[in-house]
Amino acid sequence: MAMSNVGRPTAPAANGRNVSGNSGGFASLTGGRGLLQDEPLIFEEGGWDKTGVDLPEASADAADLGDLVRTAPIGLPGLSEPEAVRHYVRLSQKNHAIDLALYPLGSCTMKHNPRLNEKMARLPGFADLHPLQPVSTTQGALALMDRLAHWLKVLTGMPAVALTPKAGAHGELCGLLTIKAAHEAKGQGHRRTVLVPTSAHGTNPATAAFVGYDVAEIAQTDDGRVDLADLEAKLSGDIAAIMVTNPNTCGLFERDILEISRLTHAAGAYFYCDGANFNAIVGRVKPGDLGVDAMHINLHKTFSTPHGGGGPGAGPVVLSEALAPFAPVPWIVSGPQGLRLIEEPAGEAAQAFGRMCAFQGQMGMFVRALAYMLSHGADGLRQVAEDAVLNANYIKARLSTAMTPAFPQGPCMHEALFDDAWLEGTGVTTLDLAKALIDEGFHPMTMYFPLVVHGAMLIEPTETEPKRELDRFCDAMLALAEAAKSRDAERFKGAPHLAPMRRLDETLAARKPKLTWRPGDTTVAPAPLAAE
Ligand SMILES: *Cc1c(COP(=O)(O)O)cnc(C)c1O
Repeated sequence: MAMSNVGRPTAPAANGRNVSGNSGGFASLTGGRGLLQDEPLIFEEGGWDKTGVDLPEASADAADLGDLVRTAPIGLPGLSEPEAVRHYVRLSQKNHAIDLALYPLGSCTMKHNPRLNEKMARLPGFADLHPLQPVSTTQGALALMDRLAHWLKVLTGMPAVALTPKAGAHGELCGLLTIKAAHEAKGQGHRRTVLVPTSAHGTNPATAAFVGYDVAEIAQTDDGRVDLADLEAKLSGDIAAIMVTNPNTCGLFERDILEISRLTHAAGAYFYCDGANFNAIVGRVKPGDLGVDAMHINLHKTFSTPHGGGGPGAGPVVLSEALAPFAPVPWIVSGPQGLRLIEEPAGEAAQAFGRMCAFQGQMGMFVRALAYMLSHGADGLRQVAEDAVLNANYIKARLSTAMTPAFPQGPCMHEALFDDAWLEGTGVTTLDLAKALIDEGFHPMTMYFPLVVHGAMLIEPTETEPKRELDRFCDAMLALAEAAKSRDAERFKGAPHLAPMRRLDETLAARKPKLTWRPGDTTVAPAPLAAE
């Protein structure tokens, strides 16, 4: 590090930014970046002997606890209120958010969440409910869930829906458990295998394995679709289900979807559709018309509602006539006393396979999703899909001038997929490019997924980005592409130069995650900036 540079940044360009995109060899003395302070863990910050509130000494009544009485200090960090507030606000400022900028993650569908949704979800009549309240006091909430279920059934053309799953992956689990129960009821419980295309999201094979099925792969055609001949060859009396995403994770509509479902049903298997990409076809295509038996809907993707950082999400599963009787409890029915919940897998729910969670699901997400549906209306939801596809194709067209689209033939659906053929010989990789994008103020696209495309870059703008923002993103991408092609590999290898953290060892972090802090542990200090 060139110490002489400290406090004396190299001359900025006319727009106030470093011309070369690097930090000019400047590092702050504290690890801070502009007004963003370096932030240790709360455990490193708080003293054990301090507390932010005055509490009377507890007269520990050990009588009920026996030998479970704590003998050592509890080890909570002691911070004053302003210290605690600052800690969390500083952390929140390190978090990228859709409210800050375009969030082009393909497959994740990061779209703007209208504030109206938040206002509705915070209505005390919804937000302050307790799941164990008597149903006579929760009629409004049940009516909302019933209305949401109605919309989901109409939009998908499916007769039943299980609302409780709490994420897409949880919905997959619900769908496969339903399928398993249906097979067992038909004396087909011996079917052991689930077919999954090579481009599938990792949750598909993981879910099938979790339910106890073997997983076999269906090959993909050169134009990124399910290989029908391979599917046909692999369908047999051993196949319980196929799991197909449509549009698929290459951002392409499965043209042969009707034939896929016909072949599947002819083999006595069920068609599970991964509905994470429903936002590309909502209002235009009803999965029920395609022969789908079960499909989860990520409310937190298709119907806005924020997600990330582990939640919250909601993954209701729509079901065909054949699978509906096996849906998990609880479900809502109406009777003389109004709406009520069927809670036990008995009587009219005798075939239900069980339940997915303790109570009724993610109420806050139900409110947000219904608010989104009602504010858009049926025509508005159709336009959501059309604009999402239009935006993705705009990006595909602009970036194809410098980058190589993975499937150049024809338009894409809601996400544009590129491979890394165009980077060949530059010394720059997909990862380098993504890191360099951070220096330009953009969150990277999804990288290296789907696995079937070499060095994949999957970009999903969603319908909520205006053309101006799409152009800013494309301009940044094209400028980086030019830098990569003009053999400025150094700039890429060191990126991100301007983020609080430089390049991290992501493999180590994934393989050996450090999930527990112990006294004496220290967090990684930001590496000093190299003098370039
Ligand atoms: C997001 C996603 C999932 C999993 O959904 P979660 O809500 O994150 O559990 C499954 N399949 C595809 C294609 C996805 O994009």
